[in-house]
Amino acid sequence: MTAYQIALLPGDGIGPECMEATRIVLDRMVRDIDGLDLAFTSHRAGAELYRETGETLPAAVLDDCLAADAVLLSAIGLPDVRSPDGTEVQPTMMVGLRRALQVHSAVRPVKLYPGAPCALKDTGPGIDFIVIRENLEGLFASFGGGAKVGDEVATDTMVITRKGTSQVSDFAFRLAQRRNGRASDGKKMVTCVDKANVFRSMAFFREVFFDVAKNYSDIEAGAVYVDAMSLYMVQNPWDFDVLVMENQFGDILSDLGAGLVGGLGLGPSAEIGETHGLFQPSHGTAPQLAGKNVANPMATILSAAMMLDWLGDKHGDDVCLAAAVLLEEAVAMVLADGTVRTPDIGGKSSTTEVAHAIAAAISSKV
Ligand code: ATP
Ligand code: MG
Repeated sequence: MTAYQIALLPGDGIGPECMEATRIVLDRMVRDIDGLDLAFTSHRAGAELYRETGETLPAAVLDDCLAADAVLLSAIGLPDVRSPDGTEVQPTMMVGLRRALQVHSAVRPVKLYPGAPCALKDTGPGIDFIVIRENLEGLFASFGGGAKVGDEVATDTMVITRKGTSQVSDFAFRLAQRRNGRASDGKKMVTCVDKANVFRSMAFFREVFFDVAKNYSDIEAGAVYVDAMSLYMVQNPWDFDVLVMENQFGDILSDLGAGLVGGLGLGPSAEIGETHGLFQPSHGTAPQLAGKNVANPMATILSAAMMLDWLGDKHGDDVCLAAAVLLEEAVAMVLADGTVRTPDIGGKSSTTEVAHAIAAAISSKV
C-alpha cells in the first residue's frame, strides 16, 4: 500500500509544540502498526509567516494541501499580527483555506472521557454527541463583505443555499449511521438546530434538512431552536446524538460543547468535504503559553485520530480505521490514568511527557 500523504501546518503560538507532540504519537503508530503508512510534508503558514513575508498561506503551500490526502493543522493566528485593515490574519486565512478545500461540514465531537474535568455536576448516562457546523456559508458567507452605511449602521448577510444545506445534512445523517446513537438510550438521531421561527433563511435550512431526512428512514430527525439547544446542552446533553446547524450557530455551540467536556485543550475538530479533509484542534494559539512546553496536545492528537478515521472510511482501509480507534483509546487511557496530564486539566506534566505517555499507551495496546 502507498503511504497517505499528510500536509502538516504547525502554525503559531502553541501550534508547533502540539504538532510536534502529535508527530511523536503518529510516528509511533507507523512504527508499531503493520500496514499503516503515513508520509508527512510540513509547511510554515499563518501569522508569524505573515509578519515576515506578508503572506499567510503561500500558493505552493495551498497546492500541497490540495494535493495531499489530508491536511493536519495546529493553531493559527497571533493577536498582534494584523492585516492593513486592522483585522487578525487568522480568519482570512482559514476562510480562504476552507473555501479552497471545499470542506462543507465541520465536525466537533463533544465527548466526556473518564478522568477529564467536566463542567457539569451530574453527567447522567454520559456525554457523547456531535456538533456539525455548515462550514462554507451561513453568516460567514458575508466574510469579506458586509456593508457599513455611514457611521451609524452596519449589516451582514446570512446566505443559506439548498446545495450547502443538503450537503451538511446528508453528512450528518451518514455520520449518525456510523455512530452508536445518543448516550441515554442508543437511539440514532439527527437534530437540526436553527431559528426557523424568526428568520426566513433558517426556515429554509430546516425545510431542506427535512427533505434530506426522507432518505434516512433508519434515523430519527428532529429540530430544536438554537436558544433552547444551548439550554439542553447543559441540562440533558445525553439526549442528543448528532446536531447540525448553520455556520455561526455551530461556531458558538461547538465552543460551548468543548467547555462542557474539559475545555479547549481536549477538543478536536474535522472539516470535511466531498474530496478534502482538514483536521485541527478547536483551540487557538494561546500565545501566553507558547514555547513553555505546557500546552495540552490532546486536542491535536484527537484531531489526528479523526483524520485516520476519515481516511480509513474514505479508502475502505480497515487498518487505518482500527488505528483511529486505537489512538483515541490511547488518549482515553492516559486521561483515565491521570498521572500524566498538562496544567489546563489539573496536572503538572509537559506537552512532551503527554505525547510520550500516549505513544507508550499505543505500544502497550498493539
Ligand atoms: P482564537 O481566537 O485563536 O480561537 P482564543 O482567544 O479563542 O483564540 P485560545 O487560544 O483558543 O483563545 O485559548 C484560550 C485559552 O484557553 C488560552 O489562553 C489558554 O489558557 C487555554 N488553552 C487553549 N488551548 C489550550 C491548550 N491546548 N492547552 C492548554 N491551554 C489551552
Ligand atoms: Mg476562539
